[in-house]
Amino acid sequence: MKTADVIVIGGGIVGASAAAEIASAGAQVLLLEMESQPGYHATGRSAAMYEPCEGIALVRALTRASYGFFSSPPDGFVDVALLSPRGVLMLGYEGDERLIADAKRNGFADIDAGFARSKLPLVKLDGVIAILWDGQAQDIDVDALHAGRLRALRRAKGEAVADAAVRRGERIRDAWRLEADGETYEAPMIVVAAGAWSDQVATSCGLAPIGLQPKRRSAAVLAGPAGASVADWPEISPVDVNFYAKPMGGKLMLSPADEDPVQPHDAWADDLRLAEAAAGLERCVDMQVQRFERTWGGLRTFAPDGLPVVGFDPAADGFFWLAGQGGYGIQTSPALSRLAAALLAGREIPADLTREGVSQEQLSPRRFR
Ligand SMILES: Cc1cc2nc3c(=O)[nH]c(=O)nc-3n(C[C@H](O)[C@H](O)[C@H](O)COP(=O)(O)OP(=O)(O)OC[C@H]3O[C@@H](n4cnc5c(N)ncnc54)[C@H](O)[C@@H]3O)c2cc1C
Repeated sequence: MKTADVIVIGGGIVGASAAAEIASAGAQVLLLEMESQPGYHATGRSAAMYEPCEGIALVRALTRASYGFFSSPPDGFVDVALLSPRGVLMLGYEGDERLIADAKRNGFADIDAGFARSKLPLVKLDGVIAILWDGQAQDIDVDALHAGRLRALRRAKGEAVADAAVRRGERIRDAWRLEADGETYEAPMIVVAAGAWSDQVATSCGLAPIGLQPKRRSAAVLAGPAGASVADWPEISPVDVNFYAKPMGGKLMLSPADEDPVQPHDAWADDLRLAEAAAGLERCVDMQVQRFERTWGGLRTFAPDGLPVVGFDPAADGFFWLAGQGGYGIQTSPALSRLAAALLAGREIPADLTREGVSQEQLSPRRFR
């Protein structure tokens, strides 16, 4: 049987970031991941954006509090920039007045047609009543971020075990005993960072679920218009975000921004919704979508109130939730992993998070118990 101070269940960006932060604070950490590749699920399927003007107020606060890590990670963490400029261009139409006002309140700026065309020369502005711009939005190098976290865990003498799906857990005296694909692991504290599967893990440990809801989101990669380089295009979407598109690896990533409630599974794309998104893109940009080169689906997992769930479960000693990051799990991972490491060590919430208005009560699983 392997033992540790803390076992983190789930090796996506949330679990890997938390494991690295907890290990760096001196605890002995084991990270258990059910797949052979830790980024196989939501983490490896995202749009890889840092968008400080998106999401509800608490998510925006967590995103702002994550900026420092992305812009100046610890020495030796990565040898590439984690962020690179992107920007988001949003188009508002008649009937979108409330959404336009909300977007401006959240930090989007009004821009004119000339500025919009300087960012995206092929943008179509027929019928547009507002053009909005978020110049703070950036691309995140998710692979580098995730690999950096796993490296930091190893450097801090932690261990990541792949092909280790936790099937059952039991509190025996002062420790959790976990069974994962034929092996037994034990630690006084466990952190459930299993994304869409977090409720299932809780149930297999004898706890009531929180009511986390995975929602499927589809995506595709397609070529840009013939002769045009799309690499410097911003992300583009209508203000009601019934699709969005952004450059990815020299091509365009397109998503219908669908959010169909589903059970946890290895997700795939909804082709019909992708076709609708392609029609939306053609309405906003002067281009024709010929075919999708690749499609995929991913799960964004939400708590009933749409906020992350971070903290010890009041119903079970040593059971720590780190789930429900929805569509913002990558951009909030630096702040949430620091918060988790502090709470697990019995420390106060980091001061910069408090200054941003983040409190333990807002995120605690107690709100569902
Ligand atoms: C199309 C799309 C676009 C997105 N765009 C963005 C974006 O631009 N910016 C952003 O910040 N976020 C974005 N997101 C959301 C982001 O991807 C997620 O919030 C984030 O990846 C969640 O990370 P995670 O580690 O919780 O989940 P996951 O990456 O799913 O990791 C959970 C891990 O737990 C493992 N696991 C499950 N059960 C067990 C078990 N029993 N035992 C052991 N391991 C287990 C799984 O194998 C998995 O690796 C997007 C998501 C999608 C689908």
